[in-house]
Amino acid sequence: MAPNIKDGADLNGVLFEDDASTPDYALATAPVQKADNYPRKLVWRNIILFAYLHLAAVYGAYLFLFSAKWQTDIFAYILYVISGLGITAGAHRLWAHKSYKAKWPLRLILIIFNTVSFQDSALDWSRDHRMHHKYSETDADPHNATRGFFFSHIGWLLVRKHPELKRKGKGLDLSDLYADPILRFQKKYYLLLMPLGCFIMPTVVPVYFWGETWTNAFFVAALFRYTFILNVTWLVNSAAHKWGHKPYDSSIKPSENLSVSLFALGEGFHNYHHTFPWDYKTAELGNNRLNFTTNFINFFAKIGWAYDLKTVSDEIIQNRVKRTGDGSHHLWGWGDKDQPKEEVNAAIRINPKDE
Ligand SMILES: [Zn+2]
Ligand SMILES: [Zn+2]
Repeated sequence: MAPNIKDGADLNGVLFEDDASTPDYALATAPVQKADNYPRKLVWRNIILFAYLHLAAVYGAYLFLFSAKWQTDIFAYILYVISGLGITAGAHRLWAHKSYKAKWPLRLILIIFNTVSFQDSALDWSRDHRMHHKYSETDADPHNATRGFFFSHIGWLLVRKHPELKRKGKGLDLSDLYADPILRFQKKYYLLLMPLGCFIMPTVVPVYFWGETWTNAFFVAALFRYTFILNVTWLVNSAAHKWGHKPYDSSIKPSENLSVSLFALGEGFHNYHHTFPWDYKTAELGNNRLNFTTNFINFFAKIGWAYDLKTVSDEIIQNRVKRTGDGSHHLWGWGDKDQPKEEVNAAIRINPKDE
């Protein structure tokens, strides 16, 4: 596959392994964060739709707690996990970042999951996301976090795209994605498949199989579940670009945010992810308890449907942590050579026995 067209000094993030120009996978120059005063043109259709969706989701949350059958609540939870994986394991780690490869049965499962999540076709999602990494926190980043929390959370979907995003977007290579017939099929029939996966199926299943009311099924399993996972995904762009430590690269906004990771199936280790975007774990090894997506990919790797999983060696991580981190990296463990003497002396040790 062809490498992405480089855009000189405008490049703000390493996208794939071969974009890196230092041994610890960084760009040669420090990233520049900026946003101009481009007047925001509101898109009223989206503002009205999202306002309705959030009101309906509040009603759905009420029905989830006080009215729906327990089967419907469990079903909504399962759909939340499924649609989450369609984004995290599918659009994000597989398609946008090529951090592993998947045989067609797994790609089929992931595209179905992805359609349930309704965050645009996996192809369009991947295009936006590649822009987010490549031109991170500039005007060509779709949800440029330097424009503030609200813009990076939902605001970017309520205004016209910045012209810089369109201009630089043309240079982005998506040929690897267009080569996949599964992705082309989803994009071509998206307006048919998406309502089926995101709204109709979630409403019909509870009514048909356990006699749920139409109202409960629609507001809980479709609208509340959909709005919930949308906001969880957006928190990666907003909260995880604002709050948390930066143990791997202190020059960028993305941060390690455990609470986001918990809800986003492992996508909140965002300082790591922007530092090494093509690592299929989106986090260091050892964070798997909060990284459901990594466990999901590992399972499919075991049965051979996921393969060519890319990850970063401990040595390179350590070098990068030392060179560009903010000093908040956790120790590798007791006796680590970076562990301060005072900490060793102050530690409470039960039944110590030094050999
Ligand atoms: Zn990000
Ligand atoms: Zn990413």
